[in-house]
Amino acid sequence: MTPTLFPSATAYGLSAERGRSRTRGRSDSAQSPLRRRLLPRRGGRDIAIDLGTANTLVFVRGEGIVASEPSVVAVDTVNGEVHAVGEEAQMMIGRTPARISAVRPLRHGVIADFEVAERMLRYFMGRVHRSRHARPRVMMCAPSGITGVERRALTEACVAAGARSVHLIEESMAAAIGAGLPIDEPRANMVVDVGGGTSEVAVISLGGIVVSRSLRVGGYDMDDAVAAWLRNTHGLAIGETTAERVKLEVGSVAPDHTEGTSAVKGRDPVSGLPRQVEVTSEEMRTALESSVAEIVVAVRAALEDTPPELSSDIPQRGIFLAGGGALLRGLGERIQEETSVPVQLTESPLTCVALGAGRALDEIEFLERTSTSGRTGAHRHR
Ligand code: ADP
Ligand code: MG
Repeated sequence: MTPTLFPSATAYGLSAERGRSRTRGRSDSAQSPLRRRLLPRRGGRDIAIDLGTANTLVFVRGEGIVASEPSVVAVDTVNGEVHAVGEEAQMMIGRTPARISAVRPLRHGVIADFEVAERMLRYFMGRVHRSRHARPRVMMCAPSGITGVERRALTEACVAAGARSVHLIEESMAAAIGAGLPIDEPRANMVVDVGGGTSEVAVISLGGIVVSRSLRVGGYDMDDAVAAWLRNTHGLAIGETTAERVKLEVGSVAPDHTEGTSAVKGRDPVSGLPRQVEVTSEEMRTALESSVAEIVVAVRAALEDTPPELSSDIPQRGIFLAGGGALLRGLGERIQEETSVPVQLTESPLTCVALGAGRALDEIEFLERTSTSGRTGAHRHR
């Protein structure tokens, strides 16, 4: 059978890995094609996970997106117990008693706290599979800039959380599929995904990533910039949740009809007392400029690296923006101005990657077949 969506598995940067203990000692019959065909039903539904620095989304094959929550876990620092995950844990950020800490297990798109990441994945996978014994096949999104060690951590966290096998798909590729771009044509498709901790720029053609730029700057860096501005300019200390709220309210890249001010409550570091100040959209533009400039530089660099045959396609088709950070007012226009290439937002920037990875699940049987024959360059743990 020829795969319909992609010309080859290697071409779109996927790899498959299986759990160390899960494959060990399996009889030959367990690896037979018939047996493998039956496994999905026995082992549970296939799922795709967009494990983002800011949000985790889970897509169940045949159903669509079934979970979308912040990538946050509230952990008891004394006994290690998990108090809450997702929305509930998010509300605890900056408000927890001393022994509970709200942790984001990912930083800049990669796992920073393995144990917490595993628990978070377990929670998300548990929401989909009621049975403890259901072990789904997982299509996991990964930033293109990750190292071998980070890639292994991601796979192992999935396996530890109960995955039967793990396939990695590059986020940019998933974003392009999710945006409905014709990635298997011999023409350039350009995607820019601005997440919480990373921004990924990619040019895709013939089902493969031709050029990619990954920078560790995203929405959280913008929040940090807002907090730093308030501290340095207004002498006001604010937490990350407040900083994000201010960014969403009055953050922008260029003046538009939403110009306004926002009342920000925080603490005066000198007196230690609560205080309120007003910030304007214009101030926020100054605060956000360096993060925005870094993203623009990465887009320009990717365009410069694109082979001429492909780069001539880009102005016709344009650049597609995905990720929550792409919703920053005026970002698309700014990129358009500085590259002279039309820019448009994907239909649903926050779910685009999960939708694309979900669609790629339709290729999972093909991937499993090719990975056992070693053609994807994937390695299995033994
Ligand atoms: P990740 O893939 O890293 O989990 P997401 O794609 O879910 O990230 O995007 C989350 C980021 O998008 C957060 O930093 C959030 O503040 C930012 N974001 C969401 N909506 C907006 C908006 N309307 N304007 C600016 N930033 C936004
Ligand atoms: Mg993302």
